[in-house]
Amino acid sequence: MFNLKEYRKSYYIAHKEEMKLRSRERYCKNKEAISSYAKMYAAEHKEEISNYQKEWANKNRESLKAYKKSYQQLNREKLKANARLYRQANKDKISIARKKYRTENKEMIYQGIKEWKKNNPEKIKAIKKAYRTVHPDRVKDTKKRQRAVKAGVIIEKFTAKEIYERDKWVCQLCGNKVDKKLKHPNPMSKSLDHIIPLSLGGAHSRANVQLAHFICNSKAGVGGIKQTRLF
Ligand SMILES: [Zn+2]
Repeated sequence: MFNLKEYRKSYYIAHKEEMKLRSRERYCKNKEAISSYAKMYAAEHKEEISNYQKEWANKNRESLKAYKKSYQQLNREKLKANARLYRQANKDKISIARKKYRTENKEMIYQGIKEWKKNNPEKIKAIKKAYRTVHPDRVKDTKKRQRAVKAGVIIEKFTAKEIYERDKWVCQLCGNKVDKKLKHPNPMSKSLDHIIPLSLGGAHSRANVQLAHFICNSKAGVGGIKQTRLF
């Protein structure tokens, strides 16, 4: 018996390329009419289309997810480049939006970070280690500051490097040059010397610190109060 459906199907399969070509030709010829009709139809059936789309997305959630993931994996470089371009073009817009988000969701963000830290102790360890490796000077400054806080002395926020520059890389105890490149525990390496030691109530302030060779600092430290800034 003749089956129209089957016949159409087999005809389509047999003439696939030809039909595709023809339909493309038809589309190209009537591009504008088709697009304006589609626009009109979309405008007239807005809600219907949106509902249909939502329903479809709901039904195909899993496959959509998988598709999105595979697309992202396949086009990683392209997507990255696009995102970079977007960020460059919208720097101010992004910065304003971020600030707004941070202000409006302060508590939530704080809780999120706290939670994440609690759940990722190993990652935190690794991050801290990396920070110590990249910024050994900052870590030292922080430790010095913390010691000063503990000792209950006046706190001024400054960096050791700032003091070394101020003292022009000259040891304030012996008057000789300090080699920037030498590292602790090399006796001739740089060190931040508290003129009046913190243990004797000296302040952790610019006025009470100076650059000294590690060896000069250690020698002088034993006797208590040192000679102040000779040079
Ligand atoms: Zn010295």
